[in-house]
Amino acid sequence: PIVANQIAAGEVVERPASVVKELVENSVDAGSARIHVEVESGIARVRVRDDGSGIEREDLPMALMRHTTSKIRRLEDLEAATTLGFRGEALAAISSVSELRLASRPSEAPVGHQIWVRYGDVAPVEPVAMGVGTEVEVSHIFAQHPARLKGLKTPAREFGVIQETVQQLALSQPEIQFHLIHDGRTVFQTAGRGHRPEAIMAVFGRDVASQLLPIDYETESGIRIEGFVAPAHIHRANRVGQGFYVNGRWVSHWGLRSVVEEAFRPNLPDRRYPYFWFWLTMPANELDPNAHPAKAEVRIYREQALKAVLFRLVRDALVKTSPSPRI
Ligand code: ADP
Ligand code: MG
Repeated sequence: PIVANQIAAGEVVERPASVVKELVENSVDAGSARIHVEVESGIARVRVRDDGSGIEREDLPMALMRHTTSKIRRLEDLEAATTLGFRGEALAAISSVSELRLASRPSEAPVGHQIWVRYGDVAPVEPVAMGVGTEVEVSHIFAQHPARLKGLKTPAREFGVIQETVQQLALSQPEIQFHLIHDGRTVFQTAGRGHRPEAIMAVFGRDVASQLLPIDYETESGIRIEGFVAPAHIHRANRVGQGFYVNGRWVSHWGLRSVVEEAFRPNLPDRRYPYFWFWLTMPANELDPNAHPAKAEVRIYREQALKAVLFRLVRDALVKTSPSPRI
C-alpha cells in the first residue's frame, strides 16, 4: 500500500503548496471557523490547525488510509459531491512522502489524540493535550525522493506559491478566518466575517480594496455571478490578483480568465494584469463532475454563454469608472 500511496502522491503532492491546499480543504470540509497555516523556513515544516469537527480517536488511523474515507460510495455521491475533498487519498498520499503528525480533538472529547506517520509507517495512536479541532504537521517532504526534491524551486519561491494558494483559499471562503504565518510572522489574516472586500483588503491592501467595482448578476439558467474588479489603471505584473471560485471552490479556468482580461485589455499596458475575483454559484447540472479532482480545473457546459455574460459585466463595470467623454 505504501507504493500505491506514493504513486497517488505523484498526483496529489506536486509541491509543498499542494500539501497546504489539501490540508486546508480538509479543514474547510470540517466546518472550521478558523484556519491557521504556519510555514517554517520556506517549506521545512507546514502546520495547518483548525477549529473544525475533529476526528474521533478510533478514526485517526483510517483517515490516513487510502480511499477508506472516500465519501463517494455511489454514483449519486459523486454527483452530489459538494465538499472539497472526495477522493479519500490526500492524507495517505502526503504521509507516504513525508513525516506527518495528525492530531485531533472533537468537541466532546476531553483530550486529543495524535498519530505519526513516517514515509507510510504509521505509529500507534497516543493522547495529546490540545484544543478542539485538528492539527496536521508535515515535514521532510520528499526527503526520501531526491529527484522530486531537486524538482522544487528555492524555499522562497515555494513559499510564494504557498502564499498564493492560501490567499486564494481565503478568498474562496471569506466566512472563514484565515491566518498565514511564515517563520513566526503574520503574512496576512482575514476577518472571516464573510465580507469579500474585507478579505480582498486583508490580502491585497487598501489601495486595491478601496476602489473595487462590484458585480452581481444572475443568468437565466440560474448562475449567480458575484464579483469585484479593480479599475483598469490598477494592475500588476502577475495574475496573483485574480480568482474564480465556483460553489466555494477555488478553480482555474483559462477560458473565463482570458475573456475577463480581454474586457480590460484596451485600457491595460502590455504584460500587466488586472485584478478581479468572481464567486460563481452554479447549479450542479451546469458543471461536469468528472473533471480531474486533483486539479483545480472545472468544465462548464455552457461556457460560451457564460463568457459572453462575463465580458459584458466587466465592460459595464469598467465604463462607470472611465472619465466621461467630452461633449
Ligand atoms: P478526503 O478529504 O478526500 O476524504 P483526505 O485524505 O484528505 O481524504 O482526508 C481523510 C479523512 O480524514 C477525511 O475524509 C476526514 O474524515 C478526515 N480529516 C482530514 N482532515 C481533517 C480535518 N482537518 N478535520 C476533520 N477531519 C479531517
Ligand atoms: Mg481531503
